[in-house]
Amino acid sequence: MSNLPQPMLSVAEALARILDHFQPLDTETVALTEAAGRVLAEDVVAAQDIPPFANSSMDGYAVRVRDVGGASRDQPVALKVSGDIPAGLSLPLPLAEGTAMRIMTGAPVPEGAEAVIPVEDTDDRRDHSGSPPPGVIRIFKGAQAGANVRPVGQDIRRGQAALRAGEVLRPASIGVLAALGCARVAVHRQPLVALLATGDELVAIEETPGPGQIRDTNSYALAAAVARCGARALRLGIARDRAAAVREKLLNALEAKADLILSSAGVSVGAYDVVKEVVETEGALNFWRVKMRPGKPLAFGHVRGAPFFGLPGNPVSALVTFEVFVRPALLKLSGQRRWDKMALRARLLEPVHSDGRESYLRVVVEQRRDGYVARTTGDQGSAILTSLVKANGLLIIPEGVREVKEGEELSVWILD
Ligand code: AMP
Ligand code: MG
Repeated sequence: MSNLPQPMLSVAEALARILDHFQPLDTETVALTEAAGRVLAEDVVAAQDIPPFANSSMDGYAVRVRDVGGASRDQPVALKVSGDIPAGLSLPLPLAEGTAMRIMTGAPVPEGAEAVIPVEDTDDRRDHSGSPPPGVIRIFKGAQAGANVRPVGQDIRRGQAALRAGEVLRPASIGVLAALGCARVAVHRQPLVALLATGDELVAIEETPGPGQIRDTNSYALAAAVARCGARALRLGIARDRAAAVREKLLNALEAKADLILSSAGVSVGAYDVVKEVVETEGALNFWRVKMRPGKPLAFGHVRGAPFFGLPGNPVSALVTFEVFVRPALLKLSGQRRWDKMALRARLLEPVHSDGRESYLRVVVEQRRDGYVARTTGDQGSAILTSLVKANGLLIIPEGVREVKEGEELSVWILD
C-alpha cells in the first residue's frame, strides 16, 4: 500500500479521473451481418437518396389533384384507368390527364401524378391477386398534392450523414446501412476485458464449496455486465489472497492483451487484501477509495500500462461500481460518445438513509398517474444480490444527504 496519503474522492471526481485514461480503440471493418451492437467508427454519408424514387405509400390509384377535386361517396369522380404500376416496375409511363393508374405500395409514382387515392376510397373491390385493373375507376374522395406519395429522399438525403461515428449499431441502423448498400462497415474494435476473482474462500462454480467457502459469483456477474456493454469478457479464474497469485493472473491478462483488467475483492483494508500492493509494484494506483455506498474500496490504476479496476468483493458493490465507473469507461473505450444513464425523478414511498456518502439504493420504480414512485427492494446489504435482481433502478442519494423523507423526490437510474 502506498505511503502517500490517499484522497477519498467523490464519485464525480473519480469518474472524471477514470475517463481521462480512456480513448476509443482502433478501427476495423466488419461485414454488415456481423455489425449489430458494434460502435460505428466513422460518419456514414449517404451516397444516394432514400427512397431513391418517389413511390406510393398505399395500394390505390395515382391521380392528378384537380381530376379528383370535389369527389365524394355521393358524387364519385369516374376516371379511365390508363395503366397498372406494380412494385418493381422500372419506369411507368407518364399519367395522361383525366386518367388514373392503379399503383401498388412501393411502386414508382408516374410523372404527372400528384397523389395516390387509397383503394379503400374507390369502388375497386377486386380482392384476389393477379386481377387486371378495371377499365374505369370511381373515386370517392379528393386528395391534396403529395398525399400517399413518399418523395425522393424523404428519409435520407444524398450527401447527408445518415449515421454518426460513435453510434451503436442497432437494428434500425443496420437497416439504414443495408438500404445504402453498405455491405461492410468501419467499427471500433471491441474491448477485451480480463476478469479475475480474488479470495481464499472462493471456489469455481463447478465445485461444491467446503466449510467456509463460497462460489465465485463476481467473475460471472461481471462477465455478463461486460457483455452488456458490447465488450468481450475473458475470465481468468480465481487468485488466492497472495501477492504471487494475484500477480500471475494480472500477467495472464497482459499476455491476453486485455484492454482493461477487472478484479474483484482484496482491495479493502483486510489483513489479506493484497491486490493494491501488487498493482503498485507492477504499475500504479491512481486512487483506491471513493465516497460512495456501496463500494468505498474501489481501486483504479494500471498494470504495466493496462487500465485496472479493483472492484469491491461484495457482489452488489461489484456490480454497482461497475455501473457507475466501469461501464462509462468501457463505452468510451469502445468508441461511444455518451455514457450517461437514463434517469428520472421518482417520489419515495418510504424514507431512506445514508451515512453521507453518495448512495445507490436498489429500487423498483413504477409509473403512477401523478409521476414515478420508487420503493427499495428490501435489505440493502452489499452482499444481498437478490436486492439487485429485483431492482429496475438505482436510487441516488447525493453526497452529504443523510436522510430523505417519504414523499420527497430523488433521481433514479434506470437499469434496463
Ligand atoms: P473482500 O473485499 O476480499 O474483503 O471481500 C468482501 C466480501 O466479498 C467477502 O464477503 C467475500 O467473501 C466476498 N467476495 C469476494 N469475492 C467474491 C466473489 N468473486 N464472489 C462472491 N463473493 C465474493
Ligand atoms: Mg477477501
